[in-house]
Amino acid sequence: MSHSLKGEVALVTGGSRGIGAAIAKRLAADGANVAITYAKDAESASAVVKAVEGFGGKAVAIQADAANAEAVKSAVEKAVAALGKLDVLVNNAGTAIPKPFIEATLEELDHILNLNVRGVFVTTQAALKHMNDNGRIILIGSCVGEKNMTPGLAAYAATKGAVKMFAQSLSREVADRGITVNNVQPGPIDTDLNPAAGDWATPQISATALKRYGKVDEVAALVAFVAGAESSYITGANLTVDGGTNA
Ligand code: NDP
Repeated sequence: MSHSLKGEVALVTGGSRGIGAAIAKRLAADGANVAITYAKDAESASAVVKAVEGFGGKAVAIQADAANAEAVKSAVEKAVAALGKLDVLVNNAGTAIPKPFIEATLEELDHILNLNVRGVFVTTQAALKHMNDNGRIILIGSCVGEKNMTPGLAAYAATKGAVKMFAQSLSREVADRGITVNNVQPGPIDTDLNPAAGDWATPQISATALKRYGKVDEVAALVAFVAGAESSYITGANLTVDGGTNA
């Protein structure tokens, strides 16, 4: 265990399961106090809180739908009130609804836009009002935000392309406070959203150079590095952790 984030406070959206839960635990292992948000699964959120506390950190889980602006703003306030400050924001909450674009309903398109893009804007704006100088804003984009070979992801890939440009652009606006903004772009990672055992997995595995799915901890390791002091000269970057999918 490293202590590179000792005493820092991180907020991870969608931190109850999958990649977000792994990030919350890894930041805690590195010494951070961690707030997570979740949408529905309070039991999984409590398990992450216990895991963070097991590393000696403070933790709080806040129910807040990332697509609901008021809920998001209130969640940021609650996180700061509970843990005292904010140093690291990880915008992880997001989803995909894989299907041919022609079949996507307006409700589905609104949902992924509201969650993957609008939610990121609102959360980041609320967090910036509290974030300390030299803070870290980390977006969880996707390798498909740069290059997409998988059918059924047209709208999802567009949201992750938006996240990529948001990170690049925002990095120039907050640099005077020493805040960095980076976009971590996972490839296929084994989670409830994208199970390695699913039918949909085979073409994704073929597209990787390493011929396997990634693990949530492999994404969390990169996020922990970007959250830490040693990444101080990295900003506006798109950092891909995709097993060579986009190689
Ligand atoms: P999962 O669906 O496995 O987990 C999603 C997490 O986000 C859960 O904690 C869930 O909470 C929470 N969440 C879902 N909807 C909302 C919402 N409306 N508001 C707040 N929290 C919400 O997803 P992954 O871990 O696979 O994905 C996490 C991120 O990584 C997403 O942004 C995704 O696009 C990105 N990504 C994933 C890849 C993969 O292959 N898995 C590849 C590239 C990018 P609850 O438990 O309450 O539902």
